[in-house]
Amino acid sequence: MVDNQIHTPGMNSGSTVVALCGGIGGAKLALGLYRVLDPNTLTVIINTGDDFEHLGLYISPDIDTVTYTLADKNNQEAGWGRRDETWNFMAALAELGGETWFALGDRDLAIHIERSRRLKAAEGLGEITADISSKFDIAAQLLPMSDDPVATTIQTSAGRLTFQDYFVRLKCEPVVEKVFYEEAHSAVPHAEVLASLHQADLRCIVICPSNPFLSIDPILSVPGIRDTMVASPAPVIGVSPIIDGHAVKGPTAKMMAELSLPSTAQAVAEHYDELLDGYVIDIADRDNSNEMHIPVRVTRTLMNSIEDRENLAREVISFADSVKASDNNQANQVDTAC
Ligand code: GDP
Repeated sequence: MVDNQIHTPGMNSGSTVVALCGGIGGAKLALGLYRVLDPNTLTVIINTGDDFEHLGLYISPDIDTVTYTLADKNNQEAGWGRRDETWNFMAALAELGGETWFALGDRDLAIHIERSRRLKAAEGLGEITADISSKFDIAAQLLPMSDDPVATTIQTSAGRLTFQDYFVRLKCEPVVEKVFYEEAHSAVPHAEVLASLHQADLRCIVICPSNPFLSIDPILSVPGIRDTMVASPAPVIGVSPIIDGHAVKGPTAKMMAELSLPSTAQAVAEHYDELLDGYVIDIADRDNSNEMHIPVRVTRTLMNSIEDRENLAREVISFADSVKASDNNQANQVDTAC
């Protein structure tokens, strides 16, 4: 267990919370939840649509970002990779004229080498992820969305691109026309993913402020996950990755414009549609809160500091509890009316 955990008085730490997330934005809120809840009650379902093979290694960028973040070993400025990293391997690779467009730090290499070795020995990605996270003393359950490969690819003005070609090599510059989740139809959710969403004491499901198209939709594209969330009696609460028409980091707003969607918090909620029971938006977007047809909580959603992450996590959980309570009240009123 990391030594920075706190337990918030008055928060119901007995029930479980599931969070869906990608990398940089999602991991920030996942950390907030991890710190304000009993960490054993948190499950994080992580996007693996960005996973790829590079230099003979299997790389799972979002799993690594969440792992390093919850283990308090992340590079907070970059948002990815490890803190106190060294780059001898990359320098030596450059001397050989090798491929250096995807940065792999010396310490970071260990996770890719170990994961690749174990995958080649026919272990599942979920088993390996759980084992590595326990080596990092992470008390929460970290789950890949599936053990099966699902590849996010992007139809762009520069042709059909693999995710990392678009995101890292071409720095998100090509205009996005359509996003695909290849092989999603034949993927099976990791068994623990559905089990976590079916938990009897599930308090809420949180869709972290991740890129909807590149981080959350790949998870929802795995058959069974979206349907299970819609059917869940636990409230599904989304947190907007868009603040005042802008992404905090990354191509979310740019992609929305290219896909002919307004770059707004509201458009993200409409994209998730019937999945959401409640939505958290930033105070900068408070004027739009009346236009949404689901309960909305307006708060500060920009997570610069650790306290910001914790405060947003507390807001999300208390909002989920109030959405659930008002659902129960309405159900009781209907019962009484009958
Ligand atoms: P990736 O997989 O590394 O691209 O990371 P995610 O998909 O999880 O996160 C990208 C999204 O996080 C972007 O749309 C950002 O706008 C959003 N984001 C990053 N930091 C924050 C923050 O502090 N607050 C909010 N609300 N969104 C954020």
